[in-house]
Amino acid sequence: MTPIPFFRPQIGEEEIAAVAAVMRSGWLTTGPKTAEFEERFGGFLGAGAEALAVNSATAGLHLAAEACGVGPGDAVLTPTLTFTATAEVVRYLGADVIFVDIDPETLLIDLDDCERRLKPNCKAIMPVHFGGMPCDMPRIIAFARKHGLKVIEDAAHALPARFDGRLIGAFDSDACVFSFYANKTMTTGEGGMLVTRDPNLARRARVMRLHGFDRDAFDRHRRVGASWAYDVVAPGFKYNMTDMAAAIGVVQLGKVEAFQAARQAAAQRYLSNLAHLPLWLPRRAPENSLHAWHLFPIRVREEARMTRDDLIGLLASRGIGSSVHYRPLHQLSYWRERYPSKLGEFPMADRYFKTALTLPLFPGMLDSEIDAVCETIVEALS
Ligand SMILES: *Cc1c(COP(=O)(O)O)cnc(C)c1O
Repeated sequence: MTPIPFFRPQIGEEEIAAVAAVMRSGWLTTGPKTAEFEERFGGFLGAGAEALAVNSATAGLHLAAEACGVGPGDAVLTPTLTFTATAEVVRYLGADVIFVDIDPETLLIDLDDCERRLKPNCKAIMPVHFGGMPCDMPRIIAFARKHGLKVIEDAAHALPARFDGRLIGAFDSDACVFSFYANKTMTTGEGGMLVTRDPNLARRARVMRLHGFDRDAFDRHRRVGASWAYDVVAPGFKYNMTDMAAAIGVVQLGKVEAFQAARQAAAQRYLSNLAHLPLWLPRRAPENSLHAWHLFPIRVREEARMTRDDLIGLLASRGIGSSVHYRPLHQLSYWRERYPSKLGEFPMADRYFKTALTLPLFPGMLDSEIDAVCETIVEALS
């Protein structure tokens, strides 16, 4: 059987041509393509969204938290079930993380648990649209306003998810950050986008994105006659996007809804093929909402004939890639040592992790490939 990878990137001739055109243009780094990508991205989300292209979502989250004023003495709520980048940016700024358990049905941050863990020094909450399942943003924003918290959405999995008809990225959180890492729902190789509707936050993030310059490099070189005249107003970072990456992004953004439709069809095929097995399957998005289906995480029920680890081994032996998203942060060495937790303090995330695996899911995955994955699982569990 031909191997089925965990992920296969969807890069067409249009992306390749767009990169080649930038390479021939004489301008490689942040410039007209990045400006175009930001404009199109903001337009896609609508309603006055200001979009800042960055070289990773991690950079975008860092800039957002910095611009929200997160610093030493502050604490930030994040789900424990996420990628380490969500929480690490809080530590970059010398603030502390408060891990929160998940809702076992949606796998999203549990607001009741947030309420229990809230401390007077809490400055922000960072919800994660896990796997592409949209968080209930009106509820999260109401919670945050009530407690005086900033809201920074980790939307690395969530383009183009919708909650109650509205795109993630179109709510009035303080910032929302998307990832264009190679295996995300669209890619620029490496890259990310910080979206905000707060002009002050946008201004600060733009300055900090590039060395604390009072204006960016493209602007500087475009203004003939005064290209040497810049000022440095802060010790900024080097988080700008290249025009080659932006050229890929412009093309991929045009395909992102078709990618979502393909992911949704694949998820639907998995859901019906696997419905009769002793598995927990991911929930569909609530009514009038859209799941981005970045991930398809399943859980092997305790009564099943095979454990999660053996199932991953069996899939691998048939050439089928799978993964686990994620080991909860409170279980990983750095986080465990920094924030020791009692056994059973995050029961839902612990229980999820013990039996979870993520199946391959990507646009361009053939029905025959999905069926082959399912047949292996059926053979193992029925
Ligand atoms: C991928 C990912 C990130 C980081 O994205 P990069 O673009 O690789 O920096 C952050 N949070 C989550 C949940 C992710 O999956």
